[in-house]
Amino acid sequence: MTINIMDIAKRRGFFWPSFEIYGSVGGFYTYGPLGSLLKLRIEKLIRDHYITKEHCLNIEAPILTPEDPWIASGHVESFTDMNMECTKCGEPHRADHLLEEKLKIDAEGMSLNKILAKIRENKIKCTKCGGELGEPYDYNMMFKTSIGPGKNKITGCLRPETAQTTYMPFRRLFELGRKKLPMGVIQIGRSYRNEISPRQGLIRLREFSQAEAQFFMDPKADTRHPRFGRVKNMKVRVLTKGTQAKNGKETEMTIGGIVAKKHTTEWISYLLATSLELFEKMGIDPKRLRLRQHKDDERSFYSSDTWDVEFMSDTFGKIELVGVAARTDYDLGRHQEFSKQKMEVNIDGNIFIPHVVEVAYGIDRPVYAAMESSAKKDGDRVYFSFPPEASPYQIAVFPLVKKDGLPEKAMKVYDMLNDAGFYVLYDQGFIGKLYYRQDEAGTPFCVTVDYETASDKSVTLRNRDDQMQVRVKTDALPDVLKKIMTGKLQFRKAGKVLKK
Ligand SMILES: [Zn+2]
Repeated sequence: MTINIMDIAKRRGFFWPSFEIYGSVGGFYTYGPLGSLLKLRIEKLIRDHYITKEHCLNIEAPILTPEDPWIASGHVESFTDMNMECTKCGEPHRADHLLEEKLKIDAEGMSLNKILAKIRENKIKCTKCGGELGEPYDYNMMFKTSIGPGKNKITGCLRPETAQTTYMPFRRLFELGRKKLPMGVIQIGRSYRNEISPRQGLIRLREFSQAEAQFFMDPKADTRHPRFGRVKNMKVRVLTKGTQAKNGKETEMTIGGIVAKKHTTEWISYLLATSLELFEKMGIDPKRLRLRQHKDDERSFYSSDTWDVEFMSDTFGKIELVGVAARTDYDLGRHQEFSKQKMEVNIDGNIFIPHVVEVAYGIDRPVYAAMESSAKKDGDRVYFSFPPEASPYQIAVFPLVKKDGLPEKAMKVYDMLNDAGFYVLYDQGFIGKLYYRQDEAGTPFCVTVDYETASDKSVTLRNRDDQMQVRVKTDALPDVLKKIMTGKLQFRKAGKVLKK
């Protein structure tokens, strides 16, 4: 059973390729009415978690920046992918991905020479026209523009990550955080990468959204995490760098076990565990997630330890949803060196540059992973089983017919639920079609106002996943729905069962 997500996404207005009327450009997608809401709710789950549970400061910096910070961070020099152009038609190919696709090998971290040798040895040609491929070269993925007019204009860059725009104001944030460490700062926003040949929908975009939290800490301080106990018994599938070198087989471990066996620190495993919890809240299938540690040759040189949470996609294979990295004092140290501004802190006479542990989410990928995990088929019916915490709408309200005062009564129910804080949609039309449409939008509950509503002061409540219908007192709806959504009440016990 495969459901074509890209097809439903376009048809139901989740997302589609941008600039369609002028011919689309690869790597740009527009989120439609449902997709933009789904993305907002997924973003909200991440933001709320880091602000309330992890006590992060929330900031928002410009996307367009001068070039200097990216010279300091190393992006101007080494934020590159290997490009190979076809000598006949000019089609660009990302060299490592081409090798992985054609030879089913891992080309991560391979040198230009080695890649060229493999391409020639296996007679790999242009995927578009079959022409000879030119020599691979490092291609910088930063988008550049200029800021201001005339002689005084300066080079501008679209940020390739939010992280550096969080590091730059570190001194100010440290003051605002009342000079305490560890200090967490989260930023959610757009970033840009001029990808060589993006052809994987939301998985590889040139303009994308990120949520990146930076935890600044004292490297000599206690490395334990205060809330580690809450997650330590969680069972996870793990691929350490050791097992990748040996047999490549995943093992099941507990979060506590990963630390006990010294694969990583409490901080990193805690952030990985809480990411898994967040993904589950988004409707991403936990059975399709695993933790993978970066091998020594693929990790950035400044990182002492990096892990990803990977999602196994039916369509795109394994995709990275979040990365957790110990970035040492590299970033702040470089900004101190290049800007000549002090990034050192003085805590009780101990003077040092803080170390950073970063948790970096893409947002677009979890949106896709939630859709792929939640797409269900039940006979002819196709629906998304999004949890109420992530679904674009939580409740849809309809009148049974478009006459006899029922739309006005339904509108009152809509207002009541809206005021109670739910994400609600009002619609009217042929009831079967309305249900079908909400199934495809992933709306968990539908409320129908009918002729009996006035006399029995009740409405029909329909459950998306099993289509069960119960009769519920109109006034009790907000309370009943809240209890069902938080798992405190079973749907079948919410009222008199009408169907199934
Ligand atoms: Zn070609």
